[in-house]
Amino acid sequence: MHWGARAEAYLTPVGPELVGVALLTEERAPFAAQLAGFPELAERFAGACPAGDVMGAGPLRTGAAARRRGRVLLVGDAAGYVDAITGEGVALALGTARALAACLARGRPDLYEAEWRRITRGYRLMTGALMWARRRPALAGRIVPTAAALPWVFTAAVDAVSRTR
Ligand SMILES: Cc1cc2nc3c(=O)[nH]c(=O)nc-3n(C[C@H](O)[C@H](O)[C@H](O)COP(=O)(O)OP(=O)(O)OC[C@H]3O[C@@H](n4cnc5c(N)ncnc54)[C@H](O)[C@@H]3O)c2cc1C
Repeated sequence: MHWGARAEAYLTPVGPELVGVALLTEERAPFAAQLAGFPELAERFAGACPAGDVMGAGPLRTGAAARRRGRVLLVGDAAGYVDAITGEGVALALGTARALAACLARGRPDLYEAEWRRITRGYRLMTGALMWARRRPALAGRIVPTAAALPWVFTAAVDAVSRTR
């Protein structure tokens, strides 16, 4: 993962000669222009051949007024999603799916909303707070150094979030 002034870059090796590149930013610009904001990456990919078209998605934040309407019930990102920054999306998608299945097995789909809120509470609080801090230049640059300097605070925060699932 690489941090630029106005974007984050995620590199995912998917084969011996293939790397997935995801750029997360609130700025609109062509992919090459975004990549130029990461001189080290731009240099590494200078001679690379794109394996496919640039795909775009966003905004990633998804809100839903409720998790259930009639016979439609939402899990995963569709049920409500803040940001990928804490890397919990897959665990939450599976956790909420398991809770939904349990509610349906009991014949109580009405209980799912409260279960969803309980399971995602830590994620919503932690990720919301991180996003809030990240938008404040005075705080943004201190998040990772603070976590590195106070590993027990970081560990306690991650444990607290994980326990809610
Ligand atoms: C850059 C980035 C990094 C991330 N890193 C992590 C990480 O490290 N760890 C982690 O746990 N999570 C991570 N996440 C989040 C994670 O990817 C999601 O939270 C997770 O994939 C949500 O699963 P889902 O099944 O709810 O939705 P999705 O995985 O989005 O699945 C929805 C599927 O529905 C399909 N679809 C959409 N519309 C239709 C339609 N009309 N008809 C048919 N099919 C349709 C889509 O093509 C897609 O395949 C990251 C996300 C991003 C963007």
